[in-house]
Amino acid sequence: MQLHGFELIDETNLEELSSRVRRWRHVVTGAQLLSFCNADENKVFGVSFRTPPGDSTGVAHILEHSVLCGSERYPVKEPFVELLKGSLQTFLNAFTYPDKTCYPVASTNLQDFRNLVDVYLDAVFFPRIDENIFRQEGWHIDAETADGPWNYKGVVYNEMKGVYSSPESVLSEQSQQAIFPEHVYGLDSGGNPERILELTYEQFRDFHRRFYHPGNGRFFFWGDDPEEARLEHIGRVLSRFDRLDVDSAVPLMGHRDTPRLLEVPFAAGEGDTRGMVTVNWLLDETVDAERNFALHMLEHILLGMPGSPLRRALIESGLGEDVAGVGLEAELRQMYFSVGLKGIDPADAERVEVLVMDTLASLAEEGVPSDAIEAAFNSVEFSLRENNTGRYPRGLAVMVRSLTTWLYDGDPLALLAFEKPLAAIRDAIAAGGYFEALIRRCFLDNAHRATVSLVPDMTLEARREEAENKRIEKVQSALSPSDREAVVSLAATLRALQEAPDSPEALATIPRLGLEDLARENRPIPIEERTSGDVTVLFHDIDTSGIVYSELLFDLSAVPARLLPLVPLFGRALLEMGTARHDFVALGMRIAAKTGGIEADTLFATTRAGRKPVAHMVVSGKATRDNAAALVDIMHEVLHEALFDDAERFGRMVLEEKARQEHSLVPSGHGVVSSRLRASFSMAGWLDEVTGGITYLMALRELAERVRDDWQGVRDDLETLRTLVLRRSGALCNLTADSATAAVAMPLFDGLVAGLPDTAADAVVWAPDALPAAEALVVPAQVNYVGKGANLYDLGYAYHGSVSVVLKHLRMAFLWDRVRVQGGAYGAFCAFDRMSGAFTQVSYRDPNVERTLDVYDKCAEYLRTVELDDAALTSAIVGAIGDLDMHMLPDARGEASMLRHLTGDTEDVRQTMREQMLATTQRHFREFADVLDAVARTGRVCVLGGGSLDAVAATRGWQALRVL
Ligand SMILES: [Zn+2]
Repeated sequence: MQLHGFELIDETNLEELSSRVRRWRHVVTGAQLLSFCNADENKVFGVSFRTPPGDSTGVAHILEHSVLCGSERYPVKEPFVELLKGSLQTFLNAFTYPDKTCYPVASTNLQDFRNLVDVYLDAVFFPRIDENIFRQEGWHIDAETADGPWNYKGVVYNEMKGVYSSPESVLSEQSQQAIFPEHVYGLDSGGNPERILELTYEQFRDFHRRFYHPGNGRFFFWGDDPEEARLEHIGRVLSRFDRLDVDSAVPLMGHRDTPRLLEVPFAAGEGDTRGMVTVNWLLDETVDAERNFALHMLEHILLGMPGSPLRRALIESGLGEDVAGVGLEAELRQMYFSVGLKGIDPADAERVEVLVMDTLASLAEEGVPSDAIEAAFNSVEFSLRENNTGRYPRGLAVMVRSLTTWLYDGDPLALLAFEKPLAAIRDAIAAGGYFEALIRRCFLDNAHRATVSLVPDMTLEARREEAENKRIEKVQSALSPSDREAVVSLAATLRALQEAPDSPEALATIPRLGLEDLARENRPIPIEERTSGDVTVLFHDIDTSGIVYSELLFDLSAVPARLLPLVPLFGRALLEMGTARHDFVALGMRIAAKTGGIEADTLFATTRAGRKPVAHMVVSGKATRDNAAALVDIMHEVLHEALFDDAERFGRMVLEEKARQEHSLVPSGHGVVSSRLRASFSMAGWLDEVTGGITYLMALRELAERVRDDWQGVRDDLETLRTLVLRRSGALCNLTADSATAAVAMPLFDGLVAGLPDTAADAVVWAPDALPAAEALVVPAQVNYVGKGANLYDLGYAYHGSVSVVLKHLRMAFLWDRVRVQGGAYGAFCAFDRMSGAFTQVSYRDPNVERTLDVYDKCAEYLRTVELDDAALTSAIVGAIGDLDMHMLPDARGEASMLRHLTGDTEDVRQTMREQMLATTQRHFREFADVLDAVARTGRVCVLGGGSLDAVAATRGWQALRVL
């Protein structure tokens, strides 16, 4: 069969994903197209290229950024941003992997979907990528005067400096490179900042010419849109191409027979003497489905549960604080395994390696317990069947998975058709000795092993800065005066280009939805409310394919401020310290064998009426209909019989939690800053900070000492929390399931809530300490996260739905241009919580501090003077409605509905908001400027970062706090 220039290769009914799958080949160019037809309204398209780099200049990554900077039919600076501004997209991004570059889009609206596909195809095949785009996205010299200080700049250059500042990122990159010496996976496709500066424009162009050809591409479609239109669309674009033979194959890494040991320095903070280590093995080819799933199960056995033998051995050794390494990596041509410890004495690296090897050897010798195997099998099977991709579109996860085999010319469905390999594994397990043999083959008898030890270097950051300065000074001094002037004028040209707005004609080329394409009504989420005894039960009748999702909420209003930072660990203790019936190892295995997971978390929000805090601990769990009774039974057990008597185990959990918080500071600095700001804007914000921000980290450090010095006191605190938190009064049960599953689950949960203790406890009054008006959180990093915000209601602002439209525009136009494009930061956000009034502006991986604050302070002036044409206004409205209508999977819908119930965010309120959004005009932009004036004058400032931050804080009189 031939259609629009494609010939059909094969066709499959893939039961596992309820899809009909056809594979097509474009006759002229040889392009491959994989087409999934199913009932999912969240349509996905992606085009991916094999892009194995030849060096670590980051050429693939810079190209990924650059092709999104304007193309033949869409000659605007950033079509990608224009789409982000005004589309209903449910996903729009691009990724660079070590060997491929992917451009996926998704939308539930057919016209929108086609617009996105159209713009993306033009971007990848016909990009402008002129020299200025290369300089902006890659690297250039920023020079204001011929003799003044010069700097290296560039979006990717700066992004990668941030990545190289994060010890975690350095560890995973180095671990991978260590197992693939002299191989494409031994290079950094993202770009090593020092190497990025070597990349030339010609090399960059050539990379596009070779690899961005249809014959080297893999086209992917998913969803409920008609198949023929897909082929027609792609066929039309490909008709401009001939065949080109591109050598982009990724070779197999040959197995080596000598283990290696590598020491790598990383930038550490003052006085930080702790290091990290991973042990890494090269494994089988990813396309081997049985081996692939079996290794996922083995990973679960070794590391997935609190009592998993390898996790336990590492944590209990006392050699470090938390497990390190990505575990099983299965997205490349060959899998690898990476495991180790963080927070070690670098001298202990080899002891960790020996410990890992000994633990694996004794497991192979003594055998893997059968309940651990059952738990691992169920966990892998549950996640394959549930296919819960969180905020990612399902189709995107399928695309990524298919590419892990398809990219290497293997069967794209090898890992998607999971029934057969699962059955084969089940049979093999029954025959006995299965995982023991796997441990021997993959780890003990596999000498292709590399141990990577990351050693702290307190002067590395400073030396790097110095080297960078020297490098550019050398360049500068070697140039003749006229050449120096040329550099200055190049920099000026680039700045002028960045500052020049797109012409209205150019902007008009971007296909956009109109207001008439938008639904006028909100789409409500089903909710039924009733009481079971005195407990509120919410039920959401949603098709969950036979899975029940449950949340049990406990009121935290009786918990004194002193105990709040202990709540997250109290939640973990319920699930990870064992019960009167099962020790923690057996409990963990039971949870994994019978459920899709049970977790404890906190939930803080603000009510619409009265701005009161909503504060809960949430115990959530999911299971298949058949296992609903087991799920409720386990929940009952942990809520009634959890034991808090193991000081050592609890102490290790505290260290692990502390290490996680510390390691996430730099990679998620924007979250830390925004949380720190919000802490002074509402009680809920303060609660979030105390249980997850800087205050929480400080409390963890104290707690770690208290566990050592005053365990009885800590234990008493945990018991107090048990009494104050786990009670029926103020509890709520939230269930999401199809009606047949609910019919089974509902009575079980009624029994669970009826049995909760009927303890009375009085609400306490929390009195948060005031945070400084401006503060600098100092960490060893080359980049900053710059934040400023205020509570708009306290400044007199009265809520109107138009604020979402105004902020969508502000973020995607003004902040994007000034902070990202001109300032060189990776991104900038602004957010408003309409419940509490908290408004925050935060930048991400930002080389500047004061300059970014100036941009924030100019937002008001921008809104007051901007002249929006109809297209720009409509685009902002469409984008804001797209955010409002965000696509959610069943469990997320059930949780969103619960949150709306808790905060009084009724359908009426939401409908009014939607109507106000739809009716937004330029007048609303002007009005909002007034409140932003007040933010500029009185807002709180918080900056997390390193480099020059200390100096800025000193001159501006900010309070500085060294957090790492
Ligand atoms: Zn990037």
